[in-house]
Amino acid sequence: MNKDYNKQFEAYKNLRNEIDSLSVKLEREHAGQMVCEKGCDMCCMDYSIFPVEFYSIVNDIKREGVNPKISVTQNKNECIFLNNHACTIYEQRPVICRTHGLPLLFMNENSEWELSACELNFTEFDFGNFTFENTYPQDKFNSKLFLLNKEFIAAFTIKKFSEFDLIPIRELITEF
Ligand code: SF4
Repeated sequence: MNKDYNKQFEAYKNLRNEIDSLSVKLEREHAGQMVCEKGCDMCCMDYSIFPVEFYSIVNDIKREGVNPKISVTQNKNECIFLNNHACTIYEQRPVICRTHGLPLLFMNENSEWELSACELNFTEFDFGNFTFENTYPQDKFNSKLFLLNKEFIAAFTIKKFSEFDLIPIRELITEF
């Protein structure tokens, strides 16, 4: 599979690197407030992701020989890869997990700009402290991911997906 979709997987990895770089920069800027650390799993929900991301992660996990531990939790809302409060696919984790804890700027369902910030990090939330430069522009990166996914699903021959189809992360376990 990887041979046929290398171009899209490479583009996904570049986008992921771009997001990682910005996340590190923002974490440094908000270092005085961010208390994210191993063991805090409040953000680890049962997310769904685009096919390009899903199959890129499958490809990475197989290529790197990762053997993820699966949680046996009964909590259906919790991510299946959360084991003993730690992520067992940390290096391969999806984009949404790479921005956990940061102040996120996005447009909500009512077409209004909204700022979301972890209440454990930003205990004294003051909207005036946030600017374009010190927030994560979620819509910008989601748009890039959407376009990348569009290209991927057009080329993908194993299964048909529509532009808005998402796959639950937990389904990764069916791939290895
Ligand atoms: S993939 Fe890892 S970081 Fe993302 S929600 Fe699951 S356990 Fe948390």
